[in-house]
Amino acid sequence: MIQVEDLHKRFGDLEVLKGIHLQIDEGETVVVIGPSGSGKTTLLRCINLLEIPTSGRLQVADANLVFQPGAHLKMRELIPFRRNSGMVFQGYNLFPHMTALQNVMEGLVTVLKWPKAKAAEHAASMLGKVGLRDKRDAYPHQLSGGQQQRVGIARAMAMNPHVILFDEPTSALDPELVGEVLAVMRSLAQEGMTMVVVTHEMSFARDVADRIVFMDGGVIAAAGTPDEIFHQDGNQRLGQFLRRIV
Ligand code: ADP
Repeated sequence: MIQVEDLHKRFGDLEVLKGIHLQIDEGETVVVIGPSGSGKTTLLRCINLLEIPTSGRLQVADANLVFQPGAHLKMRELIPFRRNSGMVFQGYNLFPHMTALQNVMEGLVTVLKWPKAKAAEHAASMLGKVGLRDKRDAYPHQLSGGQQQRVGIARAMAMNPHVILFDEPTSALDPELVGEVLAVMRSLAQEGMTMVVVTHEMSFARDVADRIVFMDGGVIAAAGTPDEIFHQDGNQRLGQFLRRIV
């Protein structure tokens, strides 16, 4: 589903991704962990081309591109990547002047050009999947952070992407609201959605991930099943990171 080959990303003089190789199969849930500044968010943003990689190759479902320094991409080259992946952000990024239903419908109507009635019906069913059927007419400020993030997940699901990318989806939430969001993500994973999740929630990583990727200094420093990652003793940096966080 996703293939990343020798991906580099540079911001001016700072090389943030230093040759990432990663392959993710359909239906897999991959959790990305690592210290702050190791490039986790940049990797996610490169996968849906919110950031344009400096070099390397990227394939997401049927979209495929080779990147070269200085080359300019055309909009029609970006669009397939944006369509193939949905993104769930740390800060929800909902439109404040739109109801939950309107937020979920927005992409269906403006990007996919669905008729409004059909979009509303689909959006309502997505809100049902995240347990918010009765909140369709609420505005973001009338919802808790956990509910807003569930709307964010419904919005990503509504576009029927091949993969959903989660960028620290619970880190802005009060601790008592984290569980409801993780529960929605867990059920999505169980339904076979392909997911890449940047998170510090180690119990989620342990229970839900098919594979954990540990980033450090812009490279993938370790990768394996949760068992392999949590019981490894050969990688000092990973050991240090886990001792700090768990
Ligand atoms: P992580 O998600 O692991 O905390 P990030 O991918 O957010 O790491 O950031 C990695 C490094 O890239 C950091 O040093 C950060 O300051 C830098 N960085 C991220 N985005 C930009 C940007 N748009 N411009 C310049 N530097 C950036």
